[in-house]
Amino acid sequence: TPLPSPDPQAGAAVKAADRAHVFHSWSAQELIDPLAVAGAEGSYFWDYDGNRYLDFASGLVFTNIGYQHPKVVAAIQEQAGHLATFAPAFAVEARSEAARLIAERTPGDLDKIFFTNGGAEAVENAIRMARVHTGRPKVLSAYRSYHGGTTTAINVTGDPRRWANDSGAAGAVHFWTPFLYRSPFYSADEAEECARALEHLESTVRFEGPGTIAAVILETIPGTAGIMPPPPGYLAGVREICDRHGIVFILDEVMAGFGRTGKWFATEHFDVVPDLLTFAKGVNSGYVPLGGVAISGAIAETFAKRPFPGGLTYSGHPLACAAAVATIEVMAEEGTVEHAARIGESVLGPGLRELAERHPSVGEVRGMGAFWALELVRDRETREPLVPYNAKGEENAPMAAFAAECRKNGLWPFVNMNRTHAVPPCNVSEAEAEQGLAALDAALATADEHTTAA
Ligand code: PLP
Repeated sequence: TPLPSPDPQAGAAVKAADRAHVFHSWSAQELIDPLAVAGAEGSYFWDYDGNRYLDFASGLVFTNIGYQHPKVVAAIQEQAGHLATFAPAFAVEARSEAARLIAERTPGDLDKIFFTNGGAEAVENAIRMARVHTGRPKVLSAYRSYHGGTTTAINVTGDPRRWANDSGAAGAVHFWTPFLYRSPFYSADEAEECARALEHLESTVRFEGPGTIAAVILETIPGTAGIMPPPPGYLAGVREICDRHGIVFILDEVMAGFGRTGKWFATEHFDVVPDLLTFAKGVNSGYVPLGGVAISGAIAETFAKRPFPGGLTYSGHPLACAAAVATIEVMAEEGTVEHAARIGESVLGPGLRELAERHPSVGEVRGMGAFWALELVRDRETREPLVPYNAKGEENAPMAAFAAECRKNGLWPFVNMNRTHAVPPCNVSEAEAEQGLAALDAALATADEHTTAA
């Protein structure tokens, strides 16, 4: 579709009202300059000045079927027309159907669905279920992880930048997970990294006291922290440790679920079934806020005759659930999950590896499906990160220049610390993926100038 005509005046009005009254997430309010967005379709969005961007961030990694999919928009409109809202204690068609479609796709016996409004609430409630189920207080989680912005979720998150001024949540304990490129275990290869990481978790469990630990929570593939697929055998090893100590194993698939990795759920790559699985984002491509917890038979049984101590006014909101039903049907009809696997194997993976060969600023390429990270470095030998901040905490030129160059070339990049993630919609076309790779190629030339090779 052709872009609507530019309307800079309308854009300026939207921006002015935003600057006057919108308080933005994770930001120093006066140091940000949000782009005024006029519209979006498929893999693209555009501003009021006539600039169009290929969204290689999928919003915040949630538009798994792109923007404005006509079937999902129609399903939301249809639901709004006959039952726009209803309280959670009733059986409502859109909610029942969404739960059935999700439960059919989650692995193993994760057959009961608790709905939330997003990922953080899913994590909060999964942890609450694990605590009530085990009668134990602590939760073990990974350094280098992100689980959401609410109290328990942010405290199990393994990123010290997110803990500032938080009074803390009881029982959050962190441990190291495998990451060969920056190995916390000084391992030489994946097998050693896997073995050492499992030994480390086992001893963390023993020193914390197995009888005090309710849950281990991990992202199946850590997303925000850098898209680090675990080595073969790691998640199965964690499953075994949890089983041996009666600990609930929670896999957080808020980002990795619903096709992102080329499977419905990333854990299918590793053949591991958790006790609880959290989801959000891709479940309805982010069209209406929705998240949830898929619950195993054993944990569902705990709450068969005693009440679950938790709930949300908008749990399973009909509009959000109608959007989920339509999204899942679209993904099944259009083969989106298989498409994501293919685009990763045949276009994104090879294309990004080829960029790494030519650009000294690329230290490592990791990922699968529509879920990739490039780790940018000053020096490939020392792996010194191309850091985003200088010593004063000001934004550092190299990553900012890289992002600006991407935008100049019509690509909206995901940039975090010294990484850029290539995380387009799972149904991104081959031509769009190639366009994204070409824009990254041009922008990496600016990052190369900050390397020791330059
Ligand atoms: N868990 C994971 C793995 C995430 O990536 C995120 C968000 O990025 C969350 C939880 C939190 O989700 P939300 O922002 O919807 O609360």
